[in-house]
Amino acid sequence: MQLLIDDVQLWDGTGSVAQPKMSVEVRDGRIHWVGPASQWQGSRPTIRVIDGRARTLIPGLMDCHVHYSGPGGPEWIARFTDPLPEISMRAIELAETSLRSGVTTARDVGAPHGVSIRLARAARAGEIRAPNIRAAGTWIAHRGTYVSFARLFEETSELRNAIKTEIESGADLIKVALASWNEGARPQDAPDIPFDKKLLAVAVEEAHKAGFKIACHANDPTSCRIAAHAGVDSLEHGMFLEAQDLEAMVKNKTYLVPTMSVWDAMLYYARAVDWPEIRKRRAEDLRHGSRVAVTGAIKAGVKIALGTDAGGGAARHGRIAREAELMVECGMEPHDALVAATSSAAALIGESERGTIEEGKIADLVLLDGNPLESISALRLIAAVFRDGRRVGQI
Ligand SMILES: [Zn+2]
Repeated sequence: MQLLIDDVQLWDGTGSVAQPKMSVEVRDGRIHWVGPASQWQGSRPTIRVIDGRARTLIPGLMDCHVHYSGPGGPEWIARFTDPLPEISMRAIELAETSLRSGVTTARDVGAPHGVSIRLARAARAGEIRAPNIRAAGTWIAHRGTYVSFARLFEETSELRNAIKTEIESGADLIKVALASWNEGARPQDAPDIPFDKKLLAVAVEEAHKAGFKIACHANDPTSCRIAAHAGVDSLEHGMFLEAQDLEAMVKNKTYLVPTMSVWDAMLYYARAVDWPEIRKRRAEDLRHGSRVAVTGAIKAGVKIALGTDAGGGAARHGRIAREAELMVECGMEPHDALVAATSSAAALIGESERGTIEEGKIADLVLLDGNPLESISALRLIAAVFRDGRRVGQI
């Protein structure tokens, strides 16, 4: 299997500026050669050539926060308790939708019944058209908080066991969720967030001891404070992060995965589906809080990796471009939004062979009919997606 993406503007994600009139040769799933189109030594008539003129080639995009078990939309939570056969079939379809939108690697950060682990395995084996998936199995949360279909714990030993069980089940990373009590579940004198500093330290220790990364859901001020100081690998959502939290994240090298698409979509549904006023206001507050936190994180120099939370909130799959647009709206340069979606995401996920276009790396590539460095919305103009050197749709 050999192909040449020819005479294209190349943004390789290594930190160099985009270069015009470049060619990239792919052989057996890897990038074999990168250089000026005029210097390519092979014979064009004998291999598959893809015309790159008026196009930009970038590394395959990475979405660090998806849930292929859910479709998003106005009733996203209810969809997680659909019958298992429906969830499983949908996950396959949504993973393909995601791939076609340019996502060649995704972190699936929580699914009921460990569906994401099975999906990641099928993707790895080439049984389905899907991104390269790194899966957290089931969310881990304190009993009485968060969603009932998470893996719930109360005692430290239960928490340690939950993490061990996820690892034994084949998870690639650990996902914990800090959240306040569900209505009526709060015991007398209990703190707002029962998954506290001490318990999170246990989770971080247990995951890191086993060589696993840990992602932490935090979307209220107290949870954000706890998570920012805990040394987790990534803080997911992070609305209401304040200056001292952002400082701690810089110090701890904790990535922020902002998932702004969720609040954007939530506000859309709040208006379009005519939610009650109180829910509309909540959507507005969350969206505002998220934008302030991301703007602050950009200024403070927090490492940022792109994540949409497609399926886990109101955001739909296949719309990664929207998240990049929102990052740029919050003050990020298009170049930095691309970094967040490629090399920065690769560093967070631990994908050393992906995330940049360099000789020897895995050929996960996206060809665009536009220039995302001029307008980030060019990420919507997908001309072709390549995963492991194969053009999606021509596997
Ligand atoms: Zn999520």
